[in-house]
Amino acid sequence: MRRRVIVEFTPEQLELLDQAEARHGTKRAGIVAALAAYADPGTDAGSHVATTRNPARASPTDHASAGTDDLAHLRAEAQALRDTLGAAEAERDEAHAQLRRADDLRVRLEEAFGDQEDALNAELDGLRARRLSELYCACCDRWAPVDEWSWAADDQARQYAYHTPCGDEGGWMFQPSSRLARPPITEKSTR
Ligand SMILES: [Zn+2]
Repeated sequence: MRRRVIVEFTPEQLELLDQAEARHGTKRAGIVAALAAYADPGTDAGSHVATTRNPARASPTDHASAGTDDLAHLRAEAQALRDTLGAAEAERDEAHAQLRRADDLRVRLEEAFGDQEDALNAELDGLRARRLSELYCACCDRWAPVDEWSWAADDQARQYAYHTPCGDEGGWMFQPSSRLARPPITEKSTR
């Protein structure tokens, strides 16, 4: 299988390509030969390439040490990546832990509010059950339903209810009162 690769060359590089073509027959053969030499530093061309790449390291011994340096560099880079990854994983774990704590808190709050709501509803039910729906009217000797109550205030500004159909009868002398309920007399009001 072959794959077409399109490259552009400068005039100087084209001159090199022409030389390679003259030496190897075709441009392709010249490029392939150069690439093969690049991959194998043992050949003349290879050592030439190696020299061109890094003139300071021309001898095979130097080249080996260059390989060792490269390996050390790669190892250091790999270790740096491992460190980065480890830190990222630690951050991710911490974020997950925080999410779990937030979720726990949310559940506890919901439970607490739910409990409070239940308690309030129970209290309201109790209050509704205890709410007076009728009060006795001595004036007409009947139990007066809520919709027959009226409200008024006495001379001490205390609210009381009276039986609307009977009017506000205070129960003077021996006449029965139409007043249904009034607050208990407090120490303050008797003073
Ligand atoms: Zn009445």
